[in-house]
Amino acid sequence: MDEERQQLLRQLPDVDHLLQRPVLLTWQERKSRQAVRDAVRNVLDERRQAILAGQWDQPFSGDDFDRAVVSRLQAEETGHLRRVINATGTVLHTNLGRAVFSPDLARHIANLVCHYSNLEYDLASGKRGSRYDHVRELLCELTGAEDAIVVNNNAAAVLLTLSSMAAGREVVVSRGELVEIGGSFRIPDVIEQSGGRICEVGTTNKTHLSDYERAIGEDTAALMKVHTSNYRIIGFTESVSASDLARLAHDHGLPCINDVGSGLFVDLAAWGLPHEPTVREVLDAGCDVVTFSGDKLLGGPQAGIIVGKAAYLDAMKHHPLLRALRVDKMTLAGLQGTLQTYRDGTAVCQIPTLYCLAQTKKETRERAERLLQALHTDDLPACVSLRRVDDCVGGGACPDAVLPGWALAIDPYDLSAEKLEQRLRQADIPIIARVQHCAVVLSLRTIGDDEFPDVARIVREALGV
Ligand SMILES: *Cc1c(COP(=O)(O)O)cnc(C)c1O
Repeated sequence: MDEERQQLLRQLPDVDHLLQRPVLLTWQERKSRQAVRDAVRNVLDERRQAILAGQWDQPFSGDDFDRAVVSRLQAEETGHLRRVINATGTVLHTNLGRAVFSPDLARHIANLVCHYSNLEYDLASGKRGSRYDHVRELLCELTGAEDAIVVNNNAAAVLLTLSSMAAGREVVVSRGELVEIGGSFRIPDVIEQSGGRICEVGTTNKTHLSDYERAIGEDTAALMKVHTSNYRIIGFTESVSASDLARLAHDHGLPCINDVGSGLFVDLAAWGLPHEPTVREVLDAGCDVVTFSGDKLLGGPQAGIIVGKAAYLDAMKHHPLLRALRVDKMTLAGLQGTLQTYRDGTAVCQIPTLYCLAQTKKETRERAERLLQALHTDDLPACVSLRRVDDCVGGGACPDAVLPGWALAIDPYDLSAEKLEQRLRQADIPIIARVQHCAVVLSLRTIGDDEFPDVARIVREALGV
């Protein structure tokens, strides 16, 4: 090894010596001596390796060393699950956590979970209560259902429903509705898991009422409809409506189950999206049990909601699976807050999912212009322009719907768009964006106004200004 490298290695102080540095002493009070010692050791090791590999030729500097240790300690504090900025224009992005809470809702949840609550306590009688009661009335009022239960997610809602209603018997489902949702949730597998047997009817593109009718036998437990949330079969197609299926079921003394997936309480058609039936409409059509997600178009916390006839839901309440699938108080607090905004008629301005969807093309253009100004493009080594984009709903809802919007397209002079996308993704607040036609595209629909200063700073830093 050459003299210079040996010299640099000799300059490195030992760990105990470094732990006495004032900056690192304050960190030892904040975290622990062990945590800071580990960080110092790791930075020292890295430095040694870099010197040996000839990648480091600077003399030892205490300030510089402090900075390396502190940034390591800060990175540990940030943890693995982090906030990101969604610039993809996909409103319900399953990889980015689906529905976002409003600050009001977060405060409502925080207020409940930082204190004791009457989660399972009836304040009127002073006796034990049920955790499901807190949202039951709201759900019944909003959907017109007789009763409601909440579990961990919609997959759990479907599992509990089928386990309670169809174990050991047959569930009749159309071949056109044997849905797979991301993350290996497949309707045929869930039916099997519940102890039921699947009876497929019809074909991929066409299923008639008579197909269901012929399949009904002694072993039939229920007729089931599943919303084809994340795909469309187009062309020569036919499916049976919820009301026709429910009527057929009732004629044979059977229940009709409907997994609607997203769970709408408002009509999307108001914002130019295709009409999807609301939960109330599905119940009005005669379906006996309806299941849906809390964090798709409803815009609340991850949850699975089951609404419908009291007799069927009563049986579910006594099913052992309910205990395994039960929700905690954070979920119930979030759901209660979300449902209250629907009841108060303020959902569209208070639920981020809904106001992202409701943004018009014109609004996204005005916001794109404002972000452009915040960026101060004069000295930027990139061509930045406004671009028309097609945003989407996501979360396995309205797969063929297009939300016209505007974005900023950034085409860097000295970097590839892919490299810029990577730098944005690896920033202190990661920005998740798409690359289209040699530019990084930041879609305004999913970026909050409060995020503009961070987006501007991070983009400028990523471009090296
Ligand atoms: C999304 C979806 C599910 C799964 O819901 P999770 O809340 O993600 O568990 C089940 N069925 C349908 C039709 C869906 O769209």
